[in-house]
Amino acid sequence: MPRLIFLGAPGAGKGTQAKLTADLCSIPHISTGDILRAAVANQTPLGIQAKSYMDRGDLVPDQLVVALIQERLNNADAQDGWILDGFPRNVLQAEFLDSLLNQIEQPYDYVVNLEVPDDVLASRMLERGRTDDTEEVIHNRLKVYREQTSPLIDFYTKRKKLAVVDGNQLVEKVTMDLKKLI
Ligand code: ADP
Repeated sequence: MPRLIFLGAPGAGKGTQAKLTADLCSIPHISTGDILRAAVANQTPLGIQAKSYMDRGDLVPDQLVVALIQERLNNADAQDGWILDGFPRNVLQAEFLDSLLNQIEQPYDYVVNLEVPDDVLASRMLERGRTDDTEEVIHNRLKVYREQTSPLIDFYTKRKKLAVVDGNQLVEKVTMDLKKLI
């Protein structure tokens, strides 16, 4: 079963598409955003530490997310394929992931970059209405994406692992393009 990493700006639809693709392949959809939101809702130690960063649209400290992902990938259900959604989000996390996957002998197959123009991203997020989807926080999340996450496009292109999918199409059409890729 495939091991895929989904990249894309906030609002690109990677959560939706990662979930659909994971269901299609019967593999876990591992979303750091979903895991962190659940931790915040349950007021776990992780959630309590992560909340203020998420409320501002900043990245949660690397050490917290890295520990979370390491634990999640060790789960029994993650031994035969997975989709990572929202991780890695900066070069340090990507380097950590490379060495972790080497160590557990689970190389990823490729990295999908869902491309969506900037103006579409903000309007999609405003429609969604999550608590961290206010105009100011959205602006910061897009800035954080440009500064910290978008360098990963280069990182994975150099490793010849990047696949680009046009995310500015109907949900069904994006899903079809992803299906073809797998
Ligand atoms: P989106 O892709 O729409 O911005 P996510 O659900 O992926 O939303 O993430 C929501 C928030 O969770 C981020 O703004 C960030 O604060 C935190 N987060 C998620 N994944 C990571 C990560 N890998 N590293 C640091 N923070 C993260």
